[in-house]
Amino acid sequence: MQCIICGEESTELIHPKTNNLFHYCQNCDCYVKDESMFPSNETELDVYSKHQNSLGQKDYVDYLVDFIHKAILPYHRGYKLLEFGSGPTPVLSHILKHRYQFEVEKFDKHFEKDKQYLEHCYDVISCTEVLEHIANPMEIFKEWLTLLKENGIISIMTLFHPSSNQEFFDWWYIRDRTHVIFFSERTFEWIADKFGLEIEFTDHLRIIVFKKRKKD
Ligand SMILES: [Zn+2]
Repeated sequence: MQCIICGEESTELIHPKTNNLFHYCQNCDCYVKDESMFPSNETELDVYSKHQNSLGQKDYVDYLVDFIHKAILPYHRGYKLLEFGSGPTPVLSHILKHRYQFEVEKFDKHFEKDKQYLEHCYDVISCTEVLEHIANPMEIFKEWLTLLKENGIISIMTLFHPSSNQEFFDWWYIRDRTHVIFFSERTFEWIADKFGLEIEFTDHLRIIVFKKRKKD
């Protein structure tokens, strides 16, 4: 199969316990589940609707505030922000709006379907725990690039995959039925090169911040 990130030929890997098929690309270091394991719309809705995250959960709010402090506040140049994949309870949007005065637009494939967000340009695009669910990430990046202002940032949270196949197969993150693609820092470096983005920050674990260069 051709890698859905870089287009190179990927290697087939069979999970030793579940026999599920994965594809690994050596060129950009991403793993993808075989299409036969991609969740249906109904499965996605079912799983996402059970995510019980809310403003009332202090741990969850602290987790998001930590993300905001690491991945948004040090780098943003303006306050127009798109939260891409806001989920059933848009907690991050609420915090950004009310605690940090961002002007927030939201989009979610299931819960915020209105595509009004396409009519604006943004200083920040945030995407937390969403990219691992997306089967066509390159199209999404392409769209983001058209919406992002010069010097704008894309702040992403998705857990980076471990560095060996053995660890990958034992990793809890692949057991979520709705997770389909798994990135590493090297995958994000490849994406940055492809789109002429700069990597502004990474915690080498789950956060990556891209910046759109100002045109010369
Ligand atoms: Zn690749």
